[in-house]
Amino acid sequence: MVKKGDMVYAWTTDADLAKRAECGGAVSGLLKYALENKIVDAVLAVKKGADLYDAVPTFITDPNQISTSAGSLHCGSLLQSKLIKKYFNGAKDKKIGITVKGCDLMGILEMAKRGEINRDNLLLIGVNCGGTVSPITARKMIREKYGVDPDKVTKEEIDKGQFIIEYEGGHKGIKMDDLEEEGWGRRSNCRRCVYKIPRQADLACGNWGVIGDSAGKATFVEVCSDKGADLLNKAEKAKTITTSAPDPKGVEIRSKTENAMIKLGQKWRKRDFSGIYENLWDVIAKETGRCIKCYSCIDQCPVCFPVASMLKEDSPMIRRGVIPADPMFHLRRFAHISDSCINCGQCEELCPMEIPLALFGHAIREEADRAFAPKLGSSDYSN
Ligand SMILES: Cc1cc2nc3c(=O)[nH]c(=O)nc-3n(C[C@H](O)[C@H](O)[C@H](O)COP(=O)(O)OP(=O)(O)OC[C@H]3O[C@@H](n4cnc5c(N)ncnc54)[C@H](O)[C@@H]3O)c2cc1C
Repeated sequence: MVKKGDMVYAWTTDADLAKRAECGGAVSGLLKYALENKIVDAVLAVKKGADLYDAVPTFITDPNQISTSAGSLHCGSLLQSKLIKKYFNGAKDKKIGITVKGCDLMGILEMAKRGEINRDNLLLIGVNCGGTVSPITARKMIREKYGVDPDKVTKEEIDKGQFIIEYEGGHKGIKMDDLEEEGWGRRSNCRRCVYKIPRQADLACGNWGVIGDSAGKATFVEVCSDKGADLLNKAEKAKTITTSAPDPKGVEIRSKTENAMIKLGQKWRKRDFSGIYENLWDVIAKETGRCIKCYSCIDQCPVCFPVASMLKEDSPMIRRGVIPADPMFHLRRFAHISDSCINCGQCEELCPMEIPLALFGHAIREEADRAFAPKLGSSDYSN
């Protein structure tokens, strides 16, 4: 029996899931068990869309469909939190199992704090995340840097610090550090992220620390809540999941890898924010001068929704139908998210004018934290 704080190697006993899964298939196995046993009414996961670079959310109520969502997609441009509010009434009347990266989880927690999502109705299966690559960058990078037709790629993965592709006729891996020095690699917000193991989920699952014979065949699971422990214990009793004690060396490697990734995230913050505070408002004014007020940054943001209608209404400071947007449009939004921007990057990802909105939001949040957080006490997670 596991309890909160325990760590195990886990794997599914379902051969089909095992074949399709990224590692041991524990995530898919647990979600399937939760659905079959009515622990949840539905599962919100992610599946392959138009191609390998396209990750789309999928809402599953039939346990046999869970296999369609197995595997990790590193090039999706999605954030799960807003979907729960938009399409599922904030999980207020349904129990939902959901796979979450750190940013998905932070978005959910922020929305739960604001009463938009019922956290108690969610079963949160966290996946560690070292970062994602934008589909556009991935395609270009594979063509230009790897010299491979992106449409011929059959699998992409990020392993041991490399972005690896398998394609008809071979496979190739290049170190992420080298790619990023040349401007390729992960999204800039992912580079700055330091929330790598989502410990505020019910379980945090990943491949870091799975070594020896288990490598590639088991999922490393850290039990983060009583709810997570209960699910794992029940699934193991039902023989849906098998677990074993993790290799102590693997536990050590996982911890070292996490620390190295956090340091790397901090390094990127230093680099991205260097010099930015000296004339932040001038830079913001210049860059946001391209804004066409499409409202994408607002619509997907998990924290700015309380001011969304105010930003869309006509007012003397923010005139409707006027572009470029009045400066107050952006200043009000930044002011509103200054204490809670989670650096999910969605505003920047979706901006058709390529305004570095996530960089500004994150820089402002970091500055606000520096000024006020020590007085208020530390936040729940370091984003
Ligand atoms: C973008 C990304 C980066 C990752 N980076 C690391 C890492 O650096 N270190 C580490 O230890 N582990 C990382 N993982 C976790 C790892 O790849 C496995 O997901 C985890 O070990 C669980 O394996 P499994 O076989 O049990 O999962 P599976 O049974 O294959 O289930 C995978 C689950 O992940 C969901 N999923 C797939 N893509 C996404 C996505 N883009 N966003 C949200 N959910 C998604 C699927 O819907 C499914 O529910 C990463 C995962 C993702 C998605």
